Order: sequence, then structure tokens, then C-alpha cells
Amino acid sequence: MLLFLTLTGRIIDSEWAAYQRSTESIPAIRNLHLALQAEEKLIVERGVSNSLLRQDMQEGAAALARLTPARAASDQSLAVLRQSLRTETSPWLASVAANVQLTEDALAATRKEVGQLALRPKAQRDPDAVSAAIDMAMTAVDAFTSTVTALSSIAVQADPQSHDGVDSALLVSSLRNIAGQMASTLTAAIVAQRPLSAQERYAFAKLSGNAEQLYSVIELQLRSYGHKPDFTAALESIRDHWMGEAQDLLNALFIIGRTSGDYGLTSEQVVARYVPRMAEIPHLRDMIITEMLREAEYRNQRARYLLLGTVGLAILALGILVVLLRVIRQRVLRPILDATDLFVALAGEQPIAAVPVPRYDDEIGDMMRAIHILKAHSQERISLGKEREQMIAQLQATSDTDFLTGLLNRRAFFAQGEQQFGIALRYRRQLALILMDVDHFKQVNDRHGHQAGDQVLCTVAELSRRFRRKVDLLARYGGEEFLLLLPEIDLSQGCAVAEKLRSEIDACQFQLDDGVIVKITASFGVVAFDHDDTLESLIARADLALYKAKNDGRNRVMTATGETGLATDGPLPENHDRVRELGM
Ligand code: GH3
Ligand code: MG
Ligand code: MG
Repeated sequence: MLLFLTLTGRIIDSEWAAYQRSTESIPAIRNLHLALQAEEKLIVERGVSNSLLRQDMQEGAAALARLTPARAASDQSLAVLRQSLRTETSPWLASVAANVQLTEDALAATRKEVGQLALRPKAQRDPDAVSAAIDMAMTAVDAFTSTVTALSSIAVQADPQSHDGVDSALLVSSLRNIAGQMASTLTAAIVAQRPLSAQERYAFAKLSGNAEQLYSVIELQLRSYGHKPDFTAALESIRDHWMGEAQDLLNALFIIGRTSGDYGLTSEQVVARYVPRMAEIPHLRDMIITEMLREAEYRNQRARYLLLGTVGLAILALGILVVLLRVIRQRVLRPILDATDLFVALAGEQPIAAVPVPRYDDEIGDMMRAIHILKAHSQERISLGKEREQMIAQLQATSDTDFLTGLLNRRAFFAQGEQQFGIALRYRRQLALILMDVDHFKQVNDRHGHQAGDQVLCTVAELSRRFRRKVDLLARYGGEEFLLLLPEIDLSQGCAVAEKLRSEIDACQFQLDDGVIVKITASFGVVAFDHDDTLESLIARADLALYKAKNDGRNRVMTATGETGLATDGPLPENHDRVRELGM
């Protein structure tokens, strides 16, 4: 995209420059053309003026009338040029316009002088004044040369490509001027029908040499137009008519003028034969300028079309690119991003959002279908995993639980008891253990059957459960023996708990399924944790205390030291508040 924009930018930049160059160059070439035309008219006017000053006119007014068309032509072409310069805003052109004004002023002064002199008979004309008037006319035309030069360089600067064309047009114009000057050099002698002065001969020879050189240069310069038949024809015409016939005429006059003043032709006759033969020169100049304008306009149009085409194509390409990116995003990137999220969720076994339905039968579609299958597999695996976890939890519970009473079994008691024991040991906390054994349980079995015995055991377990806090561990130790481990409880509190349970059991009437009421009692051994103890040694001491309780007549609570924990109806322990907290 960046490359494309850079290339487009470069094309637009270069075409824009070409467009601007040609746009500026077109009016610059037109102005130059107008200036060259004006220069030609000024030279024509000067020629007519000079010839008038050398002639003796019967009627001055009529003589001046001959000047009128030449003056009108100069005025008009200068006015057109000035008008054209005025429409431009460039400061350069303003100074050129000021120059044109200077030429017009010089021209007005010259005309006044020429008018006064021409009205007088030739004999009364002061030769110095005539020379001065001729010089003035010369100066006015020369002053205009700077205008032509300035406009030429403006045209070349506007578009350097027009350099050759401007050069050629200037060369042809110079040839036209020299052609005029050559004839003018002979005019005075022909008018007076006198031999040429040495100065005139020298001037003519020099101009003739210049003209030849200039023509060769022009021929070389115009080779680039060689493929254009009208240019070739114009050059040929100049060569035949002007270089050939017109030059032959002047050369013949020149040869006569070297020895005698008998030319056999009046100056009007010379003009009539000479002027038409050099008409092709300004025509060639106009052709060159027209060709330059045509090329500038062609370049201008080409740059405009290229600019429009490039901008249009760039917009079109950008549009296509945007559409393409949207399609790629919708059909490739978005599905890949969705798929990535789905894969991450699948990998993390997280719940998976709905898998997009594949819309196209392509690679992305295949991927989505594969994700559908993976999702189904993953869900299956997750639910199997859950099932397995449930089963493990169930097994765990079953393996920790006594099947008859639902209390912890001996194995689970030891596992969990070790933890409590560890905490008590590490933090030097109190811990009491109660071992309970149903008295003469064998007799219950013997009298009422094993099933009745089971029922009684379940009821004892149920009664014991009520004495258990969340932190306490209550387990069936074996047969008709139960264990109760009480964290944060000391010996006397433990005895109180045991005593309360003992009295509950003692008071309880165990109703069997068949309605028979059974009364039982239980004996209790209570010990408190000593820091030398292990869980086994603690249980062993509790067993000893229980043994003592049995020996002492059963249905009682006994500590390891043989003390009765509490009399059945004895006072509450000192810290009886804690005991109450325990639900007693
Ligand atoms: P003592 O007061 O000395 O403890 O006398 P006792 O009869 O309770 O003690 P003994 O150890 O002699 O008898 C315990 C009886 O408990 C023997 C056994 O059949 C019975 N027993 C053990 N486990 C179960 C059981 O799960 N269910 C039933 N119904 N009876 C059991
Ligand atoms: Mg027993
Ligand atoms: Mg027993």
C-alpha cells in the first residue's frame, strides 16, 4: 500500500510539475510571438520612414499617408502586446510592459520628427536632422529588442523544453531583420540613383555575410523539424526565393552601385520585387511559434489526462484494496482470531462460546468444522472428568465413613486426627480425647439379635453427633467403641462433655423396630493432650482410662489418672462457659 502510494505520489508530483510548466509556457510563448510580430512591424515602419526621409515628395501630406498603414500596424501590434501583458499578474511582465511603453514613447517622438522633416522639400531638409531622425528610429527599434529578450527568457524559464523553439524563432526573426536591413542599406543610393558609398558597401557586405551564416544556423537548428513537410517546404522556399532570387537582385544592384548609380530601377520597384520574396521568413517564424504552442498544449493536455488518470486509478485501486482488506478480514482474519480464542478455551478446558457456522466450503470452513468436532470431544471429556471427580469424591467419602453409623471410620479418624494433633503440637493448643464403650453390648446382641444391636449402635452414634462441633472428630473406633477428638478443649471440659453424653445415653430409651425398649449405658475414658503424646499414645491412655471406668463399675467417666471426671450430679467445671459453648 505504501509502495503504491509512493509511486502514485511521484507520478502525480511529476505530472503536476509538467502541467504547471506547460500551463505557464503557453501564454509566455504567445507573448513572445506578439513581441516578435511587433518588432517586425516596427522595422517595417522604420524602413518606410527612412526611405521617405531620403525622397523628395511633391506633396508632404500624401507622402505621410504612405506611412499611415505601417504606423497603424506597429500601433496595433504594440497595443495587442501590451494588452496581453496586462492580463498577466507576474511582476516580471509588469516591467516588460513598462519597456513596451518606453518603446511607444520613443516611437511617438520619432514619428513627430519624421513628420516635420518629410513635409519639407528635400533641399530644405537639414542632413544632420535627417541623420538624427534615422538614428531615433533605429534607437526605438533597438529599445524594443530588450522586450523580445525578456519575453524569450520568460518563455524558456516557464518550460525549459521550449528552449530550442524559442532559439529558432529568434534566429528566424533576426534573419528577417537582416533581410530588411540589407535592402535598406541600398535604398538611399537607389533613391538618389548614385553609386554606393564605401560605408554602404561595407555594411551591405557585412549584412550579406551575416545573412548567409544565419541561414546555415537556422537550417541546422530546424533539422529537428525535418520530418515536418511544411517546415521543409518553408525552408526551401526561403532558400529559393530569398537566398536565391532576392539576394541575386540585391547583389546585382550592389555590383552596379560599386561603379555607377545607374540602377535601372526605382526604390519602389526594388521594394515591390524584394519584399514579397522575403515574406516566407516571418511565415517560418510563425510556424515555429505555432508548433511550440501546439507542443506545449499537447504536453499540457497529456499531463492533465495523466493526472486525472493517475488520481482516478489510485482512487479505484484504493477502493479495491479496501474492499479486499474487508473481505480478507471477514473471511480469513476474523475466523482465525475466533478459532484462536476457541483453541485457547479448548486448551484451558473453559466453557466454549458458540462455534461460528462455516459459510464457505474452503479451508476456513474445514477448520470451523474441525473445531466443532473438537468442541464436542472436549465437552465429552469435561463431563467425563466431572463424573470421575464425583465418583472419586464419593469413593473418598465411602472409604472415610463407617458403613453402619455414617461416622468417620477408624482409618479416616487417624488421617484427620493426625492433622489436629499436628496443629495442637505446633501451636501448643489444648486437645481432649474421649473414648466411649457401650456397656455389656454383647448382651444386647444376645438378647435382641445382631440387627437390634446395630440399631442401638446407630442411635448411640446419633446421640454422640449432637455433641460434636464442626472442628471435632467423631469416629466409630470399632465394634461398640467410639472416639471423640476435641480441639481447644482441656481435660475437665472433655470430662464435662463425656459426662453429658454419658447421662444422655443413660437417660435414653432405645426403641427397637419390634417396639421393645432397651436401656443401655456407656463408659468413658477421657484424656488431655500432653506434649509427649502421639495420637496412638493418647488413644492408649484413653483406653486405660476407659478400662478403669469399666473396672470401676461402668456407666462412668474416668481420666487416665483414675479420677472420675465428674460426678453424675456433680458441679460444673470451672470453665463451664466453654463447655456451654460446645452445646452442653
Ligand atoms: P463390656 O461392658 O465389658 O464392654 O462388655 P461387652 O459385652 O460390651 O463387651 P464384649 O467385648 O464382650 O462384647 C462386644 C460385643 O459387641 C461383641 C460383638 O458381637 C458385639 N459387636 C461388635 N461389633 C458389632 C456390630 O457391628 N454389630 C453388633 N450388633 N454387634 C457388634
Ligand atoms: Mg468393647
Ligand atoms: Mg462393651
